[in-house]
Amino acid sequence: MRRILITSRIDELAQKYDELLHGRTQFEHNGTYFEPIKRIENLWREFGNSSTVIMERRKDEGEIYVETEPTDRQNLTIYLYNLYSRLDAGIASRHPSVLLKEVYGLEKILNQDGLKREFSINGRGYRPLKDIINDQLQYPMVRKWIFPEYASKIGFKTCVYCNSQYAVTDEHERGYYQLDHWLPQSKYPYLSICFFNLYPCCGSCNRMKNDDDENNYACIYAEKESEEREVYRFTIETGSLARYILTHDVNQLKIDFDPADETDVITPLKDKMHIDDLYQQFKDTAEDVVWKRMAYDRGYKEALCKARLDFISSQDVKRFILGMYDGPEDVHKRPLTKLIQDVAKQLGVI
Ligand SMILES: [Zn+2]
Repeated sequence: MRRILITSRIDELAQKYDELLHGRTQFEHNGTYFEPIKRIENLWREFGNSSTVIMERRKDEGEIYVETEPTDRQNLTIYLYNLYSRLDAGIASRHPSVLLKEVYGLEKILNQDGLKREFSINGRGYRPLKDIINDQLQYPMVRKWIFPEYASKIGFKTCVYCNSQYAVTDEHERGYYQLDHWLPQSKYPYLSICFFNLYPCCGSCNRMKNDDDENNYACIYAEKESEEREVYRFTIETGSLARYILTHDVNQLKIDFDPADETDVITPLKDKMHIDDLYQQFKDTAEDVVWKRMAYDRGYKEALCKARLDFISSQDVKRFILGMYDGPEDVHKRPLTKLIQDVAKQLGVI
């Protein structure tokens, strides 16, 4: 995992995305209007309108159905107004550090238990408030019709967490991946359509992470140039490399998985997503790099780069001859690039 710096170009994409949320878009294929902020505004107005009947299902003393108390209803209306006003002010395109502050602010008005309470509005069926909010935000449309184009423009082509699977968008802007919410949708429905909260990832990482928010998952974005971009690093364990050189038995290789900076951010990547175990299955890829190290000594590489290959750059020489992208920002272009680059650096190949 390598963080992506939020550049002015990425911010511009986020702004364009935000403008779309403020408008009213009709999708020709299903005739539905996409207007999430307007719908949240309508929900807030419905709760605040005294002619709307809001009932609540309570399960604490057996299952009972009661009309929501006026003071309680007022609090819910305040919460929905806050949600609407934040969205209207552009929360959906704000940076991850701002999203974390918004979570804190909104949870002070209504906590997780409040979002689980089940309401019926004007006789419509009982549903948890978080689901009612999610419906208005129209996240399925974001996932299917809107975000893939942006994921492609940012440059995501692999799972952000494990970098072992492709996560690409085709020319018709269909995304071949799952979309994870860095801060889980089930707990923070209001962040379900936030640009910097949407992570293209593989099915296994998404399934294993599920709605866990007890752990501090690494953010894929860096907000400042000075921020550490590496989250973890792979190396071949030195003793195992020595045993491999003697035996040429790939099973002797052991791939270590270590934090690049803060230790706590890789704990869930190990304990929940098992990335350390997953990468023991890619020993053969690490073995390729070991052989490239033996086959191409420094002199040979320098000669290749100096050769009059006018039509390709020295980076391309490394890519075509050594079979790897060597730029740190290239990690998201192809699966296993992080492993290959880290081992190549360890062995002095790049
Ligand atoms: Zn993955």
